[in-house]
Formats: sequence, C-alpha cells, structure tokens
Amino acid sequence: MTAPVRLCTKPEFDPELWFADPGTRERALAIRTCAACPFRYECAEQAMTEEFGVFGGIPPEAIDRAASIRKMRARERKAHLAAQRAEIVALTADGMSKAEIAAKLGVSDTTVARIRRAA
Ligand code: SF4
Repeated sequence: MTAPVRLCTKPEFDPELWFADPGTRERALAIRTCAACPFRYECAEQAMTEEFGVFGGIPPEAIDRAASIRKMRARERKAHLAAQRAEIVALTADGMSKAEIAAKLGVSDTTVARIRRAA
C-alpha cells in the first residue's frame, strides 16, 4: 500500500497557490484541491494557529478554524451515515440478515437494527 500524497506537494501545483489572496481564482483552486486531499483533517488541525495560507481547505480569514474543522467533520459524517443507511436498506431488501449486514459493513448488529427500525 502506498502512502497518500499531499496534493499541494505535487509538481503540477505551485506552492504559492495556498497563499494566494482572498477572492482570487488561485485561492479557490487551493481550497478545492484541499477538499480532495487525504491529509485535510491533519493539515487543518496542525494549522489551527497559522495566520497565513490555506490549510485543509480552510482559509486564514475563517474566523474560527476549529469551528470550520468541526463543520467539515460533521458534513462528512452526515454523508457517511446517509450512505451507510442507504446500503443497509438495500442489503435488507436483498434479503440479507442483520448479522450478515453487520459483518459486511463492519458495524454492530445494534446499528443495523436501529437503522432498519428508522427506515
Ligand atoms: S489539505 Fe493540506 S496537505 Fe492537503 S492539499 Fe491542502 S494544504 Fe496541502
């Protein structure tokens, strides 16, 4: 298995992109690139006190980097739970048992049961 790549270190990207002025096309590209980076959480957390530069997709003018990180995590968790819920519903419709679904998705029987009840 290869280690994930920090997208901002790829040769096709100018490192200055992450320090572009607010409102510029370059700043927007840096933010979009970070959104696809496998290091975005660690990067954002390590840069909590940075005054300059986009880290983890969060620009320095964000009033509260910590709040931005929490929002980013909450959005991704919500999307993950919605996908998991849809998969449990689909596997249930396919006739899989609670235990089979739990094993396949790596979740507990209780989680499967809770989502089935709510569906
Ligand atoms: S999240 Fe961090 S490591 Fe990844 S592209 Fe953005 S600045 Fe680079």
